Amino acid sequence: MGTNRVVQGRMVTPERLAELIEGSDVMDAEPIEDADRDCPECGSDVLTVGYMPSALAFVTGWKCQECEWSETDRDE
Ligand SMILES: [Zn+2]
Repeated sequence: MGTNRVVQGRMVTPERLAELIEGSDVMDAEPIEDADRDCPECGSDVLTVGYMPSALAFVTGWKCQECEWSETDRDE
């Protein structure tokens, strides 16, 4: 697929990026996009991906391309 991106030095698919953000398997993920923001930890570029952690949930996640930082739009 053409939407694979390099994150922390590794090529990841949308599903793999979502799994890095979620910390577990996901059911489905949309194509990776560039987020219009910089990482609050290291200032590097941030990627965004929409994904379904389960059949009844849709989450938007953000992940830094260079460090461990990530977050989601969940209300917690
Ligand atoms: Zn970072």
